[in-house]
Amino acid sequence: MPLVEYRRKRHFNRTAEPAGKTVKRKSDRRLSYVIQKHAATRLHYDFRLELDGVLKSWAVPKGPSFDPGEKRLAVEVEDHPIEYATFEGSIPEGEYGAGEVIVWDRGTWLPVGDPHDGLKKGRLEFDLDGKKLHGRWILVRIAGRERSNKPNWLLIKRHDDFARPLKEYDVETAEPRSVKSGRELEELAENTFAEDKWTRRGLQKAVKRRRTAAKAAASNGKAATASKKTVKKKSAARGRKKSTASRRD
Ligand code: MN
Repeated sequence: MPLVEYRRKRHFNRTAEPAGKTVKRKSDRRLSYVIQKHAATRLHYDFRLELDGVLKSWAVPKGPSFDPGEKRLAVEVEDHPIEYATFEGSIPEGEYGAGEVIVWDRGTWLPVGDPHDGLKKGRLEFDLDGKKLHGRWILVRIAGRERSNKPNWLLIKRHDDFARPLKEYDVETAEPRSVKSGRELEELAENTFAEDKWTRRGLQKAVKRRRTAAKAAASNGKAATASKKTVKKKSAARGRKKSTASRRD
């Protein structure tokens, strides 16, 4: 039942995202990975590794870096269907994860050791062979600071021939385009927000608007709860924090 949470959050009659199914694949096949750039409430990169017929997923706010000194926060999110790897487009306003998505990178991944052990122990090491990312990487689980039910990880580049200092090479700015369509995220944003020009600023405006809307929705939710029964300030704040976090994907 690995896709229950994924399906619960979405209305497939309103979003073009796939409902998906768990897929059985030949065991000798190389495992795929995909990174999607997503202009939701917060701009982030969704890092997804195929395992056991689904895509294990993390939201990486700053995206990956080839610099081994850069430890990039990677928030674990729900498993996604394999079919999600080709999804590129706009998730409509009001739906979970509303905003534009492009396929920023894709390729195959090879775990170092048993990936199930790695996930359990919180140290998942692997090689990536993609269009943009290469070489050895590691995901390390850390103690979460947020009151979320999903753990936080760090995505770190290992030292190898592909490693490069950030000031010399920043893959996010050097390679902004979709590997599927060649488009930038801003081009999709133009379709969603016709009033905004096809610019970075237009996209930033769209992201800001979503963040404001999410905050407003969260405080409305808080007001509704408070009117029903007397809620301690502390738990209301916690509820607000949770609902903001749940919109982040
Ligand atoms: Mn996302």
